[in-house]
Amino acid sequence: MTAEIISGKEIAAKKRLELAKEVEKLKAQGITPGLAVILVGDNHASKTYVRNKQKACHELGMYSLLVELPEEVSEEELLKKIDELNNDPVIHGILVQLPLPKHIDEKKVIDTISPTKDVDGFHPVNIGKMMTGENGFLPCTPFGIIVMLEDTGISVAGKHAVVVGRSNIVGKPVGQLLLNRHATVTYCHSKTENLKHYTQTADILVVAVGIANFIKADHIKEGAVVIDVGMNRNEAGKLCGDVDFEEVSKKAGYITPVPNGVGPMTITMLMYNTVKAAAESINR
Ligand code: NDP
Repeated sequence: MTAEIISGKEIAAKKRLELAKEVEKLKAQGITPGLAVILVGDNHASKTYVRNKQKACHELGMYSLLVELPEEVSEEELLKKIDELNNDPVIHGILVQLPLPKHIDEKKVIDTISPTKDVDGFHPVNIGKMMTGENGFLPCTPFGIIVMLEDTGISVAGKHAVVVGRSNIVGKPVGQLLLNRHATVTYCHSKTENLKHYTQTADILVVAVGIANFIKADHIKEGAVVIDVGMNRNEAGKLCGDVDFEEVSKKAGYITPVPNGVGPMTITMLMYNTVKAAAESINR
């Protein structure tokens, strides 16, 4: 058996075409969705992520504002900048690129972003809304995974979903979103004893661990849906996932590749959230 590849790249491209139409409609009403990205310091990887986000905004005809602050910026100055953007009517979404320098409290920064502009979906208000299933902003990577499953026609209700990893930005929220869609969810993490015992019973396996080729064929059940969130560099410096694609793709029913799997969906859902924020600003 060879798994069907779930192409995040293709699904993302399709979703971006739909979004471009939404942007046109909003522009016709005099609103250009605007995303502000705050970049502190000059972390190389962060710069690349920020560039990709700006590029996606431009391609969709959205407004993108880059706020670059020096590494030594004080927490107070950063919070003041966020407050300014919270009150700026041309900005609908605010994103602070993480990680931040050590002298800045990440939690304080996230809490300062207005929940109505929190397009990353990290603010406690939006996390709470996700838990209770209310309208809010969903975190982009977990949201992208759900959209991929939906677009591929994979039903979630009643399935056993196993999530390996419990970070606040990926593992925990993706499990919650699967639960909201009526999966039976098991979380695994670094303290889980006998990981295989759980992963082998997964109908849907989501892996967000950050260890190259961690999940092998003997971790999975024949025909399982395998979603690989990992973005790692192997010894040769090549981008690879948390799942050993070579062997797992021979046993799984569906699998996401790395690159061109979950990655392109993350930025697409950021654009989606920004367009949603702009649309919702009309009624406030
Ligand atoms: P974190 O480092 O925050 O979390 C990793 C999780 O994996 C933790 O919960 C940890 O457990 C668990 N873990 C570590 N070792 C093991 C193990 N041996 N067995 C079982 N669980 C283990 O990572 P993130 O969630 O931020 O990211 C995970 C991966 O996804 C990374 O490769 C990252 O680059 C990638 N990523 C990709 C994105 C995309 O758009 N494609 C977006 C975000 C992340 P514990 O809690 O016990 O420490």
